[in-house]
Amino acid sequence: MDAIYDGIILGAGHNGLVLQAYLGRAGLKVLALERKAVAGGGLSTLEDPRHPGFLHNTHAFFQRAITAMPWYADLDLERRGAHYIEPELNVALLTGDGRALEWWTDVARTVASFAEFSRRDADTLRRWHDEFVPIVQDILTWESRSPPLPPDERSRLLERSAAGRRLLAVSALSPIEFVQQEFAHPILQAGLLFFNGLREVDLRVRGFGHHIAALLASPAKAQMSRGGSAALARALEAAVTESGGEIRLLTEPRRIRVENGRAAAVETGAEVIAARHFIASSLNPHQTFLDLLDLHFVPREIRDSVDAFQYNLLAPLFALNLNLREPPRYAATAKRPELAQAFMVILGLDHVDQFHDIIRHHEAGSIPPTVMWGSCPTLFDPSQAPAGRHTAFMWEKLPYRLHGGAANWDAAREAHAKEMLALWQRHAPNLADAVIDSFARSPLDTERSLPNMREGDLLVGAFTNGQIGHHRPFPGAGAYRAHIPGLYLCGSSSHPGGNITGLPGYNAAQVILADLGIKAEWAPPPIAARLAAL
Ligand SMILES: Cc1cc2nc3c(=O)[nH]c(=O)nc-3n(C[C@H](O)[C@H](O)[C@H](O)COP(=O)(O)OP(=O)(O)OC[C@H]3O[C@@H](n4cnc5c(N)ncnc54)[C@H](O)[C@@H]3O)c2cc1C
Repeated sequence: MDAIYDGIILGAGHNGLVLQAYLGRAGLKVLALERKAVAGGGLSTLEDPRHPGFLHNTHAFFQRAITAMPWYADLDLERRGAHYIEPELNVALLTGDGRALEWWTDVARTVASFAEFSRRDADTLRRWHDEFVPIVQDILTWESRSPPLPPDERSRLLERSAAGRRLLAVSALSPIEFVQQEFAHPILQAGLLFFNGLREVDLRVRGFGHHIAALLASPAKAQMSRGGSAALARALEAAVTESGGEIRLLTEPRRIRVENGRAAAVETGAEVIAARHFIASSLNPHQTFLDLLDLHFVPREIRDSVDAFQYNLLAPLFALNLNLREPPRYAATAKRPELAQAFMVILGLDHVDQFHDIIRHHEAGSIPPTVMWGSCPTLFDPSQAPAGRHTAFMWEKLPYRLHGGAANWDAAREAHAKEMLALWQRHAPNLADAVIDSFARSPLDTERSLPNMREGDLLVGAFTNGQIGHHRPFPGAGAYRAHIPGLYLCGSSSHPGGNITGLPGYNAAQVILADLGIKAEWAPPPIAARLAAL
């Protein structure tokens, strides 16, 4: 062996870094192996090489409630340079006929915006918000921060309380059934389903009927990282290195060695690095189980489960990024000046029926009429562009396999970017003269940049096919423990899934420390006890 550590983490995205920092604080000597030249994964901010000073967040930008995440305080990330901004007009949907649906950090203002479309729906919104506040606070938040319970045990515990029974009953619906049952106005239905879709939950899937009510009730609003999303990665990196952790960049694992029935070492091609206690992979199931383990260490049922593992059809994003002389000035601000400070802006969505069309296009591998959302980060953080200049971007959900193959994206990229810009200009006519330069990135570019996001799936695994909770990514590898002793999972293909939450890493830290018999003072009380006490 060339070197020995207590543990090795594969991939230094934010989940790997959160895990590494907690384990370092527990006194373990941990190494992370990262294929890129920079750590952070989806926390990526790039300076435009053609235009110095223009920063673009090429993956995650809207980050929900980072400052409320337990690891944000535990790892002392503000002292290490992280800082988050939460604009009050959090989201605005601008319709083709010049109206706007607004979501504020203050729920009363959101209800008032809904009331401009439908008084009845506004009352319904308020009712679901109020009913779900305790369900979010007492159940869902804690479930996301804990290793998941087996489904039967979870149901049994939830059945004991009124809040738990209500959650189970609402969950039985699909998001679209929930919205159609509870809300009447087609724009409000569309807005609600859009929020559901932002978290990549498939609107047709039963078991997620509670999701929109939970989003309504959650205090967790969209935030952005000052200095760019990578600033959070730098703060996490500091937490790792200050606790003795090492991150080896430009290093790809080739093979996980299994010795005496345990995950024992990682081969990189250049060296063999031994792990005394564990190897934790933040990569996807294909990489972890099929690419890195020798076949004879992967039983048939695990191979079948990996083959059956599904990536999100609806998650892949196409991104158009602009360098600007001035921010987009939306025509709708003439009647509603507050829109000039809207954080997330949604364009092209006017009716709930568009979702069915979008799904059909994804299934067919074709491009639907554009529905897109984005922001002008420099309105809230001027440090992301040269003085007086701006950046802005729009994202659209588009199929990974365009016209039958992802490779078709390279020829189609620029033409599609132009179509997005045309729609954007219809809403913000000043963009006709304001654009200094632009670049676009397709779902294929996502996978090229972060191969764990297979098929461009930025959540690294759909929330369908039973791939949730205790069974994410699949039975036999759920709850962070793989089938081989000493091998763990800690990325987005584990509970509670993708996006910048840090919770797969946070929960994996609880499991690994428990298996090593090390007390995690910071860990929440066991979720079973919490649910039983409701
Ligand atoms: C265009 C786009 C927009 C997004 N917008 C948002 C958003 O607004 N809000 C939000 O919350 N989320 C957003 N996401 C999703 C978010 O970025 C991911 O869900 C999140 O980054 C997953 O975190 P992770 O730590 O599990 O994995 P990652 O962040 O992907 O980190 C995995 C790490 O593993 C490394 N790696 C991969 N393969 C190997 C290998 N073979 N060997 C070694 N290292 C390897 C990668 O380089 C990476 O550093 C977006 C993603 C994309 C692509």
